[in-house]
Amino acid sequence: MYNRRAALAATAAAASFALTLSACGQNSEGGSKEKAGGTKGATIGIAMPTKSSERWISDGDNVVKGLKARGYRTKLVFGEDNPDTQVSQIENLITQGVKGLIVAAIDNKSLNNVLQEAADAGIPVIAYDRLILGTEHVDYYASFDNEKVGRLQAGYIVDKLGLKDGKGPFNIELFAGSNDDNNTKYFFNGAMSVLKPYLDSGKLKVGSGQTQLTKVTTLRWDGATAQRRMDDILTSSYKSGRVDAVLSPYDGISIGVLSALKSDGYGSGNKPLPVLTGQDAELASVKSIIAGEQTQTVYKDTRKLAEVASAMVDDALKDKKPQVNDTKTYDNGSKVVPAYLLQPVSVDKSNYEEVLVKGGYYTDAELNR
Ligand code: BGC
Repeated sequence: MYNRRAALAATAAAASFALTLSACGQNSEGGSKEKAGGTKGATIGIAMPTKSSERWISDGDNVVKGLKARGYRTKLVFGEDNPDTQVSQIENLITQGVKGLIVAAIDNKSLNNVLQEAADAGIPVIAYDRLILGTEHVDYYASFDNEKVGRLQAGYIVDKLGLKDGKGPFNIELFAGSNDDNNTKYFFNGAMSVLKPYLDSGKLKVGSGQTQLTKVTTLRWDGATAQRRMDDILTSSYKSGRVDAVLSPYDGISIGVLSALKSDGYGSGNKPLPVLTGQDAELASVKSIIAGEQTQTVYKDTRKLAEVASAMVDDALKDKKPQVNDTKTYDNGSKVVPAYLLQPVSVDKSNYEEVLVKGGYYTDAELNR
């Protein structure tokens, strides 16, 4: 049995646990009351951040599959990028009697109270892709090597511009993700570790002067917000000269940046589109890469991530130690959360077929080739 449950004892927490068990008997998916403490047929709650980006829809579907294959029922909710909505969704899941939680946080610091409720009910919590901060009630973390994501994006820019061969100087603009997502700083720091020597030597110049993370974040990873910022930068800082590269941390942001660039005449005449990175291998971006617009993306196989998270919650509930491969990097302010990190892969026009099509992530038909 999951060991935290042992700590429940005859406290208010026990009352809350009893409540969740009885609620479990009436769950909307028709689950009958399972043996107290058993895991067979138990329901696992899955809280995903938004449906506005495909990746989270696939993540949700894949986690459901992974858990069903292990004999669990599931309840999947999407928080529509609103932290308060996500908190009340998780509260509901706890009340409905879920036995485990897999959570991709919207705001990494907003979940402390609700995760205390989960802990009181003896529910193990897996942080999915995004680490949850400031609470000890996160048992495991399933993600990718997030610093490497940034290094792959920046490394791609360095290669494409020929910086290692001494070419330059070039103009670059920097975009980062949402400031309430713990991954943002890992992506950005990873990228800056690669770009820094060229920024220091002047081979790369940031025309807008905006180089600090606090100046370049994009709330909720919103493409329209990124588009507006790129519009402003082009108007204020590129009256002469042109942008040669844009570090974008996510495909939705890249698509917004691309719109701003095209509106400013990039992609025609003597203004070629800059090298433009991304992340997630979303369908629109892979099509854009094939069409020669966005240049690169970082592919993270969400099927594998879902499998890791499903196995983690299953092991935790069976009181087995889940497999982890990192016990140092992810300090959430309360503890270092044991993590399993998968490897991201850089994808561009030269290898999308090998990686994405042969890898079964997209079919030819989906890519309209
Ligand atoms: C994920 C990225 C994703 C971004 C926006 C991050 O937490 O790690 O894969 O691009 O959120 O959804």
